Amino acid sequence: MLNIITLADRTFVALRKAGRPVPGRERVYHAVTPYCRPALCAEEPGNGSGWEEPPHHEVTCRKCLERLERLRHRGTSDH
Ligand SMILES: [Zn+2]
Repeated sequence: MLNIITLADRTFVALRKAGRPVPGRERVYHAVTPYCRPALCAEEPGNGSGWEEPPHHEVTCRKCLERLERLRHRGTSDH
């Protein structure tokens, strides 16, 4: 199941950084535009790394959520 978020003509999926889980740290799913490296919150995977597929069903990064929320409001007021 692929959960694609579309807001104001922009598309995002919930992805987390590839690699081993960090003990004691929750995995965070960021809002990432497909084929685009940095997440909405400007986080990005390290050198030689990438985003891990498949996308999650929801974004859990607080910063990304805030920005998505802002985009959502902008999307409705500008049109
Ligand atoms: Zn994020």
